[in-house]
Amino acid sequence: MTDIIQLLPDHVANQIAAGEVVQRPASVVKELLENAIDAKATSITLVVKDAGKTLVQVTDDGVGMSVTDARLSFERHATSKIKSAEDLFNLHTKGFRGEALASIAAIAHVELKTKTEGNDIGTHLTIEGSKVISQDPAVVPKGTTIAVKNLFYNIPARRNFLKSNTVETRHIIDEFHRVALAHPSVAFQMIHNGSDVFNLPASNSRQRIVNIFGSKTNEKLVPVNEETEILKINGFVLKPEYGKKSRGEQFFFVNDRFIRSSYLHHAVASAYEGLMKNGVHPGYFLFLDVDPHSIDINIHPTKTEIKFDDEHAIYAMLRATVKHSLGQFNIAPVLDFERDKGFDTPYEYGKKSPKAPSIEVDRDFNPFKEKPKQGNINFPFERARTSSVGANPSWESLYVGLHDEIETTETSDPVSIHQIEFESEEVTGNLFENDKSETGQVTFQLQNKYVVSPLKTGLMVIHQNLAHQRILYEELLKNITVKEAVSQQLLFPLQLNFSKSDVEIIAKIREQLEHTGFVFSELKGENIEISGIPVMIVESLVVNLLQQLVYNIKEDLPDSGFSQNDMLAKSMAASMAIKTGVSLNSEEQEHLINQLFACKEPTVSPGNKPVFTIINLGEIDKKFM
Ligand code: ADP
Ligand code: MG
Repeated sequence: MTDIIQLLPDHVANQIAAGEVVQRPASVVKELLENAIDAKATSITLVVKDAGKTLVQVTDDGVGMSVTDARLSFERHATSKIKSAEDLFNLHTKGFRGEALASIAAIAHVELKTKTEGNDIGTHLTIEGSKVISQDPAVVPKGTTIAVKNLFYNIPARRNFLKSNTVETRHIIDEFHRVALAHPSVAFQMIHNGSDVFNLPASNSRQRIVNIFGSKTNEKLVPVNEETEILKINGFVLKPEYGKKSRGEQFFFVNDRFIRSSYLHHAVASAYEGLMKNGVHPGYFLFLDVDPHSIDINIHPTKTEIKFDDEHAIYAMLRATVKHSLGQFNIAPVLDFERDKGFDTPYEYGKKSPKAPSIEVDRDFNPFKEKPKQGNINFPFERARTSSVGANPSWESLYVGLHDEIETTETSDPVSIHQIEFESEEVTGNLFENDKSETGQVTFQLQNKYVVSPLKTGLMVIHQNLAHQRILYEELLKNITVKEAVSQQLLFPLQLNFSKSDVEIIAKIREQLEHTGFVFSELKGENIEISGIPVMIVESLVVNLLQQLVYNIKEDLPDSGFSQNDMLAKSMAASMAIKTGVSLNSEEQEHLINQLFACKEPTVSPGNKPVFTIINLGEIDKKFM
């Protein structure tokens, strides 16, 4: 047999390598910003067009490249940052693989202008799909500008795979934040489609955080400082009361490199134990400095995961340090009358290991139990009760005609609604009331999670959270698409403070939100003022709802109108729905069931999970055989 193995041509190898390094425009942003940092820039400008799909350009005032280096920088495994394998364990730069520029040049149109300090004339290089098109001398300032145009122009499949501009921009901003947070002494600017998105002067770490996340952030920060032989920790954690339902600002940097680590996250989260309700996440900006010899960055191609030699020690130290800082901040006089005295740590405890602070947390918090603050606020169930009478067919009408269905269709689907035959079928008025008089209660709650109702043919087990999501989802979707706002006017408008970019996100969906009943009287800069909210929500849930919405949108907001509405309704329903763990009285259980079966699709949740299941008598009987 003849030999069949061939070496791939370089441009093909580069394209394949590019798949690892460049997933989306944000990957290009990350690589170019990091190169500028490695080049010791003091000022960096990022220009983006069409969420980076048309242009990503980074200009720095760093050391620049010589004519030869400029050309070499686009070769694979060409790097000025390491020379031998040992250097891998003593890294002081962001880059070291020498792959980024080669990968980017394989899948885009790239233009490079660069000049070093000592030279009068710089160089201007153009490359398309790994091919050098031109290289000419050019009069340019010291430093480097790299423009990456038409990303994935030669890989249409990858280009089509990119998400909406909102999502891709979000990813770019995330990368920009990470690099900017790690290097506060460097000035950063970001321009998107011609407008200034960020303008961050050289400053310190606290200032940088505030400049990025908004002026109100300052008062939320608790400083964290600790130095031991193996680890230096600096930075800030957010006071427990600013925890978010969604994972918001959570940043770890190790030797100025942003990393993800669920292990370290756990260390921080556990330091907050007892200070936050379940399901609320702490925010933090933590900078860890360790000996470069004690970590391995090489395990992940995009370098956001690293391996520590002494993970356990780092975990323990991080946890203790954060706990200590949280305890310390609380001795400072704050206007917090509900503060638990046991939470205070005297100053002289300074060097002792801190005791876990504790705050009373109401684990049975039930938003529906809250008393309305204003006469016109309706709670979900209250509203359900009033609005569904007459308008919506309730429990009873559900099985009017059910007889015929059961007689004519012999379906074997275990959760088919047509099989449901209710125990007290003969009752004509309200099923539950009549039944209660005889048996006390017809439904009951299991683990504050399920509502269980006996049927003639077995037991129906309803997932309370998923059921309520379904109810709210249908209602919200109707409001958004039919555009009928049902709003409750607030006596005192809600003043909320979000980061500038989050306010922009909310501004984008303002119209849809107004259809659900929100009335925004201001929506600019970092400020949101709300003078009306949907009737189906309580005021105290608004902040969480908006935070969750922004989070979901950052994750994925489809471009098209219908699916956008759908996503909004889903996401609002998810954050408004009664949660697992909330106890419901029998009346509330009853209303939940009535409302659920007035829905168009009661069997599945908006996220496509089953809402209830039926355990047939037959199945129960089998257990006793
Ligand atoms: P790496 O950063 O891993 O070395 P890259 O492909 O990102 O690999 O860059 C290759 C080389 O090009 C770098 O090692 C550096 O010498 C040079 N280079 C890239 N960007 C810049 C820049 N903005 N300023 C100066 N030199 C740069
Ligand atoms: Mg690099």
